[in-house]
Amino acid sequence: MPFVEADDEAGDDSLPTRELHRIAGGTCRDCAEPYSARDAVSSIVLGLRNAPRCLECLARRLGKREPELYDQLTDYVSRRACYRRAWREAERMDATPDAPRRPAEPAADPEPAAPAVSEWDAGGMGCGELVMALRGRLAALPAGAVLTVTATDPAAPEDLPAWCRLTGHALLSADHPTYRIRRRGD
Ligand SMILES: [Zn+2]
Repeated sequence: MPFVEADDEAGDDSLPTRELHRIAGGTCRDCAEPYSARDAVSSIVLGLRNAPRCLECLARRLGKREPELYDQLTDYVSRRACYRRAWREAERMDATPDAPRRPAEPAADPEPAAPAVSEWDAGGMGCGELVMALRGRLAALPAGAVLTVTATDPAAPEDLPAWCRLTGHALLSADHPTYRIRRRGD
């Protein structure tokens, strides 16, 4: 997988890597087992940075088989520089088993509630931030509701369809910068 690029070597303070360092070493919200650093990045990709889970529990939530989800996640991550760097950092952390673990965090409100609106202007939100915020917007809506998103990030035409495939939300139309997404059923 083409994980190495010149930009990977730059100093990394991107949002996914910062979030990885914040949540690494915790325990799965569902099964209470420790999750790996790669599971932490996977949770961030799926919009669950405040309620991280192990890969097995992520797959169960999405109704996917674990290897299938892992393949989709690594494919998604490999195509986005900010997530690619976070993944490489996670690989490094997972290869250091003696790293201290943080105690499990109490089950808190997973995300600040976003307002339930059917239209959302994401402006120029970019890698990482856009799908994290989008997850919150969709979570505020009932299953089957349609959200119209305006996202001017030049990566959105590739990023949003790929994220919808990954998470099981239905992309009804994509006419950059306007996207219509139907929230999946739970
Ligand atoms: Zn779990």
